[in-house]
Amino acid sequence: MPANVAFAAVPSPEHNDPSHPEHNGRVPAILEALRATKLLERLVEISDPDPASIAQVTAVHHPDYIRKLREHVRSAPVYVDPAPTYITHASFECALNAAGSGIAMVEAILDGSARSGFALIRPPGHHARPRAAMGFCLFGNIAIAARHAQKRGIERILIVDFDVHHGNGTQEIFYHDQTVFLVSLHQAGIYPGGGRASETGSGAGGGFTLNIPLPAHAGSAALQQLIGDLIIPAARRFAPGLILASAGFDAHWRDPLASLQYVSRDYHSLATALQKLAAECCSGRLAFFLEGGYDLPALADGACNIFRTLLGEPAEDTLGPASHPESHIENLLAELRRIHGF
Ligand SMILES: [Zn+2]
Repeated sequence: MPANVAFAAVPSPEHNDPSHPEHNGRVPAILEALRATKLLERLVEISDPDPASIAQVTAVHHPDYIRKLREHVRSAPVYVDPAPTYITHASFECALNAAGSGIAMVEAILDGSARSGFALIRPPGHHARPRAAMGFCLFGNIAIAARHAQKRGIERILIVDFDVHHGNGTQEIFYHDQTVFLVSLHQAGIYPGGGRASETGSGAGGGFTLNIPLPAHAGSAALQQLIGDLIIPAARRFAPGLILASAGFDAHWRDPLASLQYVSRDYHSLATALQKLAAECCSGRLAFFLEGGYDLPALADGACNIFRTLLGEPAEDTLGPASHPESHIENLLAELRRIHGF
C-alpha cells in the first residue's frame, strides 16, 4: 500500500476571466469531486506553502521577463500573449504561489513526508517560455520544481507531459540538457504547433526529448501501446531519480479544445505506469502538476483517477466511452522507435 499521498491546492480565485476556459472554477471542481468521492480525507494536504522566490523562478525564466510580467500586472487586466493569456492585478502573486506549491510538493516527496502527490495549481505552466508567457501559462511550474529538486541533489528527472497540447515551454527550457528527459504526448497539428517526432533535443541534450505527436482520435488503445512500447522503455533507459508529470486533462473526449478522445480511465492507466516506474527507478517519488483540462466533469474525473492510482484504488469512470473510431498509430510508433533506438 502506498505511503502518504499529498495534494496541494492553489485555486487562484483572483486570477480569473470567467469567459476564458482557464478560469477560477477549475481547481474547486476537482476539490469538490475529491470530497464527494471521499478521496480527499485520505490525502495529506500541503497547506500554506511559501510562494516561489524570484531566485527560484529565475532558475527557469529570464529576469527581464519576470520584471516585465510584474509591470504588466500594474496595468491589468491585459493580455500578455495572443493565446489569449490574460493577467489580472493578482496574477503575478498567483503565479508565484502556484510555482511555490509545486516546489513544496517536491520538498514533501524528497523529505519523505509523502511518497507521491498532485499539485492542483493554476495558472498552469507547461507553455511558459524562458522569456515569455504563453498559452494561459505564466511560470513553468514543473520546470521550476525540477530545478529545485536538482538543487536538492536529484541528478536526473523525468518529466512526462500528457496534456493534449505540446509542452513547448518545458521543452525549450530543457532542450539542451541531458539531466531532464521530457516525454510529451500530444495531439499533432494543434496549438502550439511544434512537438514533432524529429525534435529530440540538441547538443548535450540530444536524445533527451521524446515527442509523441498523436493523430486526432488516437484514443485509449494508442495510449496503451505508447505506454508499453515507448514511455516505459524510455524511462528505464534514463533511470530518473524523480518523476514529474504535467497532468492536463484536455485529451479527454469531452474536452472542447482538442480531440484525442482519452476516457477517464486512461488517466488511471497513465498514472499506474508512472507509479510502477517510480517504484522501480526512484523509491516511488512521483508528483503530478495540473496543466490544462477545460471540461469540468472530465477534469474532475481524470484528476480523481490520478489520486485513485496513488492511493492504490481501482479506476472509476462516470463519463463513459468516446464515440469516434480510434486512429491507428503503427507508423508513428515505428518512426519513434527508429529515431530513439528502441
Ligand atoms: Zn492543454
